[in-house]
Amino acid sequence: MSDVKRTPVLQISHDPCPQVQSCELFPLFKSKGAAGLFKIHYCQSDYSACARYKIATTGRSVPRTLLPDGSVMRPT
Ligand code: SF4
Repeated sequence: MSDVKRTPVLQISHDPCPQVQSCELFPLFKSKGAAGLFKIHYCQSDYSACARYKIATTGRSVPRTLLPDGSVMRPT
């Protein structure tokens, strides 16, 4: 019997965000880079914490440059 403790594997237990079809930024998060982390953390996991989702559910228009963490995307 081994005494090695295993690190729990991240489990995504939530349904995907209901806004994925209409969210302007979701297609940008399909990359495997840093933007992909937004998809994993918010779109596929905790979408209720997403700043874009919160605004969308109020019926207001979501600023195009608003990121899920509440920061604003800078022009490249
Ligand atoms: S960025 Fe936010 S609103 Fe858009 S799909 Fe992801 S979780 Fe939903």
